[in-house]
Amino acid sequence: MAKYRGPVCKLCRREGEKLFLKGERCFTPKCAFERRGYGPGQHGKGTQFRRRRESDYNRQLRAKQKARRVYGVLERQFRRYYEVALGRRGLTGLNLLQILESRLDNVIFRLGYADSRAQARLLVTHGHFMVNGRRTDVPSTLLGQGDVLAVRDGSRTREFFKGLPDTAENRSIPAWLSRDVRALSGTVLRLPERSEIDGNLSEQLIVEYYSR
Ligand code: SF4
Repeated sequence: MAKYRGPVCKLCRREGEKLFLKGERCFTPKCAFERRGYGPGQHGKGTQFRRRRESDYNRQLRAKQKARRVYGVLERQFRRYYEVALGRRGLTGLNLLQILESRLDNVIFRLGYADSRAQARLLVTHGHFMVNGRRTDVPSTLLGQGDVLAVRDGSRTREFFKGLPDTAENRSIPAWLSRDVRALSGTVLRLPERSEIDGNLSEQLIVEYYSR
């Protein structure tokens, strides 16, 4: 269960846009991108003004890196997802996005039970969630149609989870999921359609990157 351990805000600055990786903080003036909206490193400021003509390869690479960073997936696993997507019927790009969306940590985030995927990931690794009645501590578990997740009974008495129903109620969820916020549970009704996934991701460029 390897994960990126470096500075998170640097990833937004590297991609030149807010990726909303830190939950609430991303919406406050403390956001590093609001304060330093230029590339990281010694020459970061300069590159903001000296934009070179982007090559096709660079656009493909950036699209892939951005998706990886949004979902918090390392390169090896991301490539594995691509290979699974390639083997499925239909559009490889959409398949890839659906795989990323069906990760347990993402579903918890989408259900409003965590304010970022990173937080969802932490909650899972600490064993607070069950999938179909079984405890799991693997954030990359892929969920499918009909799978049900819920906060473990033993975890509900914790301070964080006591206040969670009220917090989650104010967060909207996509149509491919349903939730019972008082029971702190949720169900995958189906896989998401393209229009229900972040429109800012360029799956076509990602496919081009891996098909080189
Ligand atoms: Fe990105 Fe959020 Fe950090 Fe801002 S606070 S730079 S949006 S991760």
